Amino acid sequence: MDAELRRANALLAATRRLHAATNAILNAQSIEDLDRTIVDVLPGAIGFERVALLAPPTLYGEARIVQELGYPALDLATVPKNSPLAPQAMLDAARSGSEDDDDLPHGDVRGAYVLAPLRVRDRTVAMLYADSLREDVEPPDAVSGVAYALDIAGIVRANLSLSAELAQLARMDGMTGLANRRVFDERLEDELQRSARSRRPFALVMLDVDRFKQINDAYGHRTGDEALRALAEILRTHARNVDLAARFAGDEFAMILIDVTPTDARSIVDRILTAIRSCDSVRGVRLSSSAGIALSYPIDTAESILERADAALYQSKQAGRDQATLG
Ligand code: GH3
Ligand code: MG
Repeated sequence: MDAELRRANALLAATRRLHAATNAILNAQSIEDLDRTIVDVLPGAIGFERVALLAPPTLYGEARIVQELGYPALDLATVPKNSPLAPQAMLDAARSGSEDDDDLPHGDVRGAYVLAPLRVRDRTVAMLYADSLREDVEPPDAVSGVAYALDIAGIVRANLSLSAELAQLARMDGMTGLANRRVFDERLEDELQRSARSRRPFALVMLDVDRFKQINDAYGHRTGDEALRALAEILRTHARNVDLAARFAGDEFAMILIDVTPTDARSIVDRILTAIRSCDSVRGVRLSSSAGIALSYPIDTAESILERADAALYQSKQAGRDQATLG
């Protein structure tokens, strides 16, 4: 009876620990946070003293350890070729056992071990390896505890990546894939503050497709859309990592070019206009654009710099289009 009660109490305590661990997993705020939480909470909750979360190999590289806890650290370089931990075998190779078994997943297994996949929908996104199980924990309980926690972690991960995708979509112009107006407005405010502090001006470029209504009328809206996408691609390839290219509205685009002199800004924009002029990705359509450039002053507001860039764009249109004006 005593033994039965002890076993029931131990089970209750283990369930409580697992509950606390899954709560921490459920509250993860990002994928990195989730990975860290899994490795941080599972040892205490389940009883493994050494845990590592491994990212499976991808097209771009070999398997690697994302997070680990416990000593000594796992050495992936010493894993035998036929081990489930070996880069080419890692996917889906769930198994458990102990250091007394033959055919161990690596040369330094300590006590009971488990290797289990973290799956998001049907895809294995990581493998959890744990060993050095505490003596007072039954290996089958530990293995099912890990599987349970990883099932929950998989659902949390799916939700986190969906929210990240949605957040990304909310910042993107759906048709061209460029940053949308909201991102542009935020970035313009940031750059105004940064450049006022550093006294290093940035350039604001407003760019508007020439006679776009005629393109729509002559070739149809679908072709018009294609032309806008081709133009967006040109802006994307000409913007450096630090710059921003955004769809401002309709056939109007905006760029923020960081740390440039007026001459730099002008030659970047001239190159963009040349690329647009010689773009042949939309069948039969001759595309050109006009641009207005304004360099920032420390006292500028979003309104004042946009006004100067717009006025410069207007001048380009007035002067016959397909050209840039530095305002
Ligand atoms: P301008 O050289 O003076 O700029 O002449 P424009 O014909 O380009 O005149 P404007 O810039 O005022 O016209 C923009 C046109 O772009 C009007 C609108 O029908 C069209 N447009 C706006 N958004 C889209 C879109 O998403 N797709 C397509 N196909 N057309 C769009
Ligand atoms: Mg236009």
